[in-house]
Amino acid sequence: MNDKLRLIPSVELITQTDQFIEIFKNHPRALVLSILNVEIEQLRNRMLKGEFHDKTVEIIPLADSVKKELLICEKPSLNRVLNGTGVILHTNLGRAILAKNALAAMGMISAGYSNLEYDISNGMRGSRYDHCSLLLKELTGAQSALVLNNGASALVMALRSMAFGKEVLVSRGELVEIGGGFRIPEILECSGARLVEVGTTNRTRIEDYRKAAGSGKAGMILKVHRSNFNITGFTEEASLSSLVGLGRELGLPVVHDLGSGLLIDPGSLGLPPEPTPKESLSQGTDIVIFSGDKLLGGPQAGILVGSGEEWITGMRKDPLCRALRVDKMTLAGLEATLSLYRDPNVAMAEVPILRMLSASVGELTERASMLIAALAGASINVEVIDCCSVMGGGTFPGFELPSIGLSVEILGCSPDRLATKLRSLEVPTVGRVEKDLLLIDLRTILQDQDQQLIENLSSLCS
Ligand SMILES: *Cc1c(COP(=O)(O)O)cnc(C)c1O
Repeated sequence: MNDKLRLIPSVELITQTDQFIEIFKNHPRALVLSILNVEIEQLRNRMLKGEFHDKTVEIIPLADSVKKELLICEKPSLNRVLNGTGVILHTNLGRAILAKNALAAMGMISAGYSNLEYDISNGMRGSRYDHCSLLLKELTGAQSALVLNNGASALVMALRSMAFGKEVLVSRGELVEIGGGFRIPEILECSGARLVEVGTTNRTRIEDYRKAAGSGKAGMILKVHRSNFNITGFTEEASLSSLVGLGRELGLPVVHDLGSGLLIDPGSLGLPPEPTPKESLSQGTDIVIFSGDKLLGGPQAGILVGSGEEWITGMRKDPLCRALRVDKMTLAGLEATLSLYRDPNVAMAEVPILRMLSASVGELTERASMLIAALAGASINVEVIDCCSVMGGGTFPGFELPSIGLSVEILGCSPDRLATKLRSLEVPTVGRVEKDLLLIDLRTILQDQDQQLIENLSSLCS
């Protein structure tokens, strides 16, 4: 053995020092040892390179570096973040924020046993798929409903269960990528149905669908809501009612993938018109699909509602249903969220996404002034600035909502560096850099996070 390495005490000796005894009190033994071994390995390598001369390794700095490493290792990977981007349904930041009653229901149902698949009245096995069904039927006018993992899985389920091995007619203007590499043509392929492209990108008429169905192998007409982009100019699309008419005539089910699933009139939120699940069903669509965590403001889920019972009954029996099934937490959170929509005014007041959407510029300006006052002593330059929020989450493309933000500047610090600093705080704040300024849109910062924002911005100066 290289003589120099004798300058490193044995692991046994190290772990018996006061410093390490203290560390073991607060951290799992195996984790401490594995970190310690890495540290020792590094010390060895440095010694062999001759970085230390004749000094014995000291315990205190060694203990400090182990503690530092422990802090990094024990920090959860999933952390809360302040969203100052102004993107309301930010998929990368977790999409919808849940209402208080949804959080309470998820906590209560998960903390103990529940009647997830148990029929209380007769003491027999029940179905988890019954739980949100009644509410979904009530709110959308559907005859049947099924909740799965997310919108994508709901679409795969519909395609596989309703059109396996058959042709699915989709307008070329609707062969979209929804985000995260989720492309309608690929989803169609993987579900075992065959895509038949209909019409052109900008114009698709009902006659194009009729022609495409001529092969006799068609199994479904699929309408996909263009949720994340607009087609403008010389355009034409077949109306939902004409698709339903053609579907009836040819005996083909019509499925409408709506995406966002807003359950109240978009106009009442100042949003551009978009069909609600209820409207789509009332036009005779067989199955409507939407997400739980977009404008509905609930947990991640994919919801299928049907104007009849047959298709959903088939899906429930499909083996794929087991693979895509939702957890009790999702059902608890979704049921609580849905219950708020029984009174649209209650939904507007309680669903955080809807509240954010309807926050007025005046209200946001008031909060901005309060924040500026609280930051008055700090050596950062913070100003109130007009900005624009967007919906995000692949919904309402091109729609911009006037908003109020804080522009943050520190002398000698570029906006990009400032953004990096803000992201590296204990509760990271994500802003956006616009016109060479770091901007924090207050619309997507929850009111009860204002104090945290003040702390975060104050700590930037140091
Ligand atoms: C968002 C979206 C989906 C996918 O839903 P997820 O819940 O994100 O899986 C599918 N179709 C449309 C039209 C969408 O907008």
